[in-house]
Amino acid sequence: MVMKKFAVTPGFKVGGTLFKPQQLAVLGSIVGPDAEIEMTTFKQLYVAMEEERIPEVQEQLRQAGLEVHPAGFVSKSLITCNFCRGAEDAGLDIAQRLDEIVADREVPSPLKIGYAGCALGTSEPLIKDIGVVKMRDVFDIYIGGEPKGIKASLAQLFMKDVPEEKLLPIVDRLISIYQENGKKKETYARYVKRITPEKLHELVISSSIAAE
Ligand code: SF4
Repeated sequence: MVMKKFAVTPGFKVGGTLFKPQQLAVLGSIVGPDAEIEMTTFKQLYVAMEEERIPEVQEQLRQAGLEVHPAGFVSKSLITCNFCRGAEDAGLDIAQRLDEIVADREVPSPLKIGYAGCALGTSEPLIKDIGVVKMRDVFDIYIGGEPKGIKASLAQLFMKDVPEEKLLPIVDRLISIYQENGKKKETYARYVKRITPEKLHELVISSSIAAE
């Protein structure tokens, strides 16, 4: 039997990333006895199951209100905080729009993008590849966090006080530049060190000017 992996998440809302009991019941009842379900560190469940049944199972999961994503070398769905300050103050709407542009893009090494609705940063945005922190009405963007290994390090501030209308294009461009320039299996932290934050800044700014 050929087994293959994909990711499942309920998405996020005020309260966080919350599965409904019936969604977990559906998941457990349709994947088959040989399937394995793994809890990842990035708020997705990984399901490894018989490859030929995957399309029908994914369809049922979508009908149960779950999101289905690819596993492996892609940018993951947005890893958010719990929006405890409420949808408006913590920026639920912009986080949802950000999720739409960041998830499921093929990249040289799996890419994790974090979002926090305030400077308390309970979703740990500074140990993500790209971290976005809402600071009242503007956003700070951090890059190159490395949570793994004995040389783990925090992300560094890349852009400060970014207005809402610029946030999505900048993060979109950061991912595109990584797609174009990252080497195969090069983690984002290593890539940022190699290319340098200053050069990345130049590339992002020049592309924004070109787009205006
Ligand atoms: S980051 Fe801020 S808004 Fe989000 S859950 Fe934590 S404390 Fe609340």
